Parts: sequence; structure tokens; C-alpha cells
Amino acid sequence: MQLYPLFADLTDRPVLVVGGGDVAARKAAMLLRAGARVTVGAPMLGPELRELVQQGRVAYRAGAYQSEWLAGVWLVIAATRSRPLNARIAADGHSQQRLVNVVDDPVLSSFQVPAVIDRSPLLVAISSSGTAPVLARRLRERIESLLDPALGPLLQLAQRYRARIRARHADLASRRRFYDWLHDGPVRALLRASHPVHAEQQLVAALSQRHEPKAQGSVVLVGAGPGDPGLLTLRALRALNEADVILHDALVDAQILDLARRDAVQIAVGKRSGGVHTPQETIHALLLEHARAGRRVVRLKGGDPFVFGRGGEELEFLRAHGIVYEVVPGITAALACAAFSGVPLTHRDHAQSVRLVTAQCQHALTELNWGELAQERQTLAVYMGVNKLDELTRQLLAHGRAPTTPFALVENGSLPSQRTLVGALHDLPSLAARHAIRAPALLILGEVAALADASHWHGELLGALPHPASTATLADAA
Ligand code: SAH
Repeated sequence: MQLYPLFADLTDRPVLVVGGGDVAARKAAMLLRAGARVTVGAPMLGPELRELVQQGRVAYRAGAYQSEWLAGVWLVIAATRSRPLNARIAADGHSQQRLVNVVDDPVLSSFQVPAVIDRSPLLVAISSSGTAPVLARRLRERIESLLDPALGPLLQLAQRYRARIRARHADLASRRRFYDWLHDGPVRALLRASHPVHAEQQLVAALSQRHEPKAQGSVVLVGAGPGDPGLLTLRALRALNEADVILHDALVDAQILDLARRDAVQIAVGKRSGGVHTPQETIHALLLEHARAGRRVVRLKGGDPFVFGRGGEELEFLRAHGIVYEVVPGITAALACAAFSGVPLTHRDHAQSVRLVTAQCQHALTELNWGELAQERQTLAVYMGVNKLDELTRQLLAHGRAPTTPFALVENGSLPSQRTLVGALHDLPSLAARHAIRAPALLILGEVAALADASHWHGELLGALPHPASTATLADAA
């Protein structure tokens, strides 16, 4: 071990930061968070430090560095731009047995400031002994994404009730089980859902119960986004990391499932059009069975769970059965396909609204309000439409949408296999057939789709938009 790790209590202890710029300001802010009494020394201060001084939160020694500044301080951070000056501060500090950090200079320093994940009272600190700050920062990001922000409040709560928990669960094994329940159960879930008062009530109730609290199952309805794992939210990633059981749609990409806890049970409840179909009742039954067995269930759906995902029905079912749940939104196909084909869904000049429409209606497609859908100056994002392009096109044209209206049909949006087909509405069925576009594909129809031609950036671009001249001819002919 090259370095001795330590967590210092600097509450009310004098410390010195030499330097007046941004770096010095960041160091001062961090020291203030730890409750230290911070003095900054520099000939001049940047705006952040000036403000801290004006607020009286930081003391200021104006002028060039002098070794007397080190008197009485516990540690010093040298954050000036001059290496000779930093070296002088370090030498003075070492000779007076102060702990010295010179920013970005492990050779001159006697202590280093680690990359920190702050879930106070929990602190995770990472050091590469100054050899690989980039690696330390990457690791920090990974760990940051693993530890949900509710962990801090949970530990604070546990700290306040520590004595009562110890008294109620004098036996070590029973205390461990209680803490497991605290971390995995409803108290943490309530904190995540921003109900701190309820969370505390649950804790108090559990402590006054005669029997030990039973592991309580829960369901997190998680949107997995359109396919690219990079489009998962941190919250989704955490849910996958904590899951005991994952019920996922067929549309969810294998790369995303790879991010889940290794020993989580994965159950495919596919509903790919044409493929195996799991009835909704079976999905409900599985959710209930696993949640009642005390497991943390993730119900993982493509895109967003509340956009054509029957997430609403699943929540209703869970609520009716008293199962605790959370919902994590995902990036829905319309947003992802628009972004990955360079099509803004709204545009000051061309589209003031967007409609998310499904072509997979419970009833006939004829029941959609085509008059409204065919209106101009709006964008349609049509889900599950690849098998219905004929009728879709026919109805829109019949209800007055211009035959030259541009479309972008995005297949496998956000995945490496993405293909974007562009063209004019009247050519849509024939072009899609010629290029054999398959589900999952999303149709973006409206003036904005013309922008795909120039702004498209991901995957292959197929087809072409009508030339303005031929547009005129078409309009004349129509
Ligand atoms: N809840 C999902 C939609 C489920 S319906 C969401 O919010 O995105 C399934 C339809 O979504 C598909 O038929 C297709 O139209 C669209 N879709 C889902 N993923 C897609 C992708 N990666 N590329 C293009 N369309 C996609």
C-alpha cells in the first residue's frame, strides 16, 4: 500500500487554501461541506471565492503567500498556477508537519484528495495513488450509478434509530435480518418515492411489532428505452442491479439484460408481433407470484412503460393486490427514433404538436379519427404500423394529407442495425416493401421528416425525398 487511507474530521478545524481561482474555489467548497474553517490566501480572488468571502463563509488573507499563513492550520491545499510557489508552500508545510496537498501533483503532496461518492453518512472514496485519475473518475461514475440517492437518507434514519434497533434486536442474527429488511424493503422504497415521513412511520411500526418484519416483495416497472443500453436511466440501471426477478418483453435487447444482476432470474414474456404471445393475465399472475414471495421484481418494458406498453393496466393490477411499486420512465421509441434520425418532432415553422399513435388498435383502424390525424402542421409518430402502411397511407390521403408529405420510417432505432427510410407519403407502402422494413419500426410523418435527409447521423439512410420540382408536378397532378 503506497498511501494510508484516512477520513478526516475537519469540523471547526482551521485549514488553508492558497490560490484564488476556480480550482481553489472548488477545494474551498469541498472543505466547507466537511465543516472546516477555511482561509483562502491569494493576491486576488475569482468571483466564486469573492462571494464566499462576502458571505463570511471563508476568511481571506490578501497578498502574496507567506509561510506564517500555515500557523495553526491542520492542512493546506496549494492551488496556485505557479509550480515553484506550490513547491515552496509544500516545503513549508512539510517542515511544519502539516498535511499538504498540491493540486494534481502527487510528488509534492503528502496527502491526496480522492474521487468521492457522497451518500452521507456513507462516503466512498477512490484513489489510484495519483497514477490514474481518469480511471478513478470512471470508477466513481460506475459506483455513483449503483448507489441510489435514497441511501443517504436511509442511513441517516438508521443512525437515529440505532439504539432502538439494537434494543429491539439484541441478538446479532436478528439485527442483521432487520437491517436487510431496512435496505431491501418498504422503508427504502418509500424514501426513493420521496415519502420520508411514511418511511419513518414504517420503521417505527416495524420496531414495535412483536414478530420480525417479513421481506416484502415489490415491483418496479422499468422503461428499458429503445434498445441502446446507453439510453437507460441511472434509476433503471439500479433497479436491474437489485432485481431478484426480471420479467422482460421480447423487444428488450440482450445487451440491456446483460447489465442485470448476474443471479437474477430472467423470464421472457414476449409479445413480438407474430411471435409467441404471453397473455396479459399470465404476466399479472407472474408479477403477483414473485412479489408475494418477497422478491424484488423488475418488469422491464421496451421504450417507456406508459406509452403503448400496458403499464397502466399492470399498475392497476398491482395496486388492487396491495403490491408496492415504483415506475421508472424510459425513452420511448418516438423520441429515440427522432433523435437518432436527426428529426426534431416539433419545429417552429413546421409542426406545433406531435401525436403518438398506435396502428395496433383494439378495434379496427377505421375507428381512428383520420380527419384529425391528417391535419397539417403536426407530426405523427406511429407505433406498430409496419403491417398497416397501406391502409394508413390510404386513409391519410383520403382525409386530405398532401401526397408529398415527407416521412421517415426508422427500423431498429438506436441499435447498430438502424435503417432510416425517407420519402413522400404516397410512396410509403411501396418503398417500405422494396426495402423490406420490419418491426420494430416507427413512422415519423410530417414536414419535419424532411430534415432526416440532411440531419440523419446514425445507421443507414435509404430512399430519397422528392425533389422540389417533382413535388410541384405531383401537387399539380393530385
Ligand atoms: N413502450 C414502447 C412501445 C411499445 S409498442 C415505447 O415506449 O417505445 C412497440 C412498437 O414500438 C414497435 O412496433 C415500434 O413501432 C416501436 N418501437 C419500439 N422500439 C423501437 C425501435 N428500437 N425502433 C423503432 N421502433 C421501435
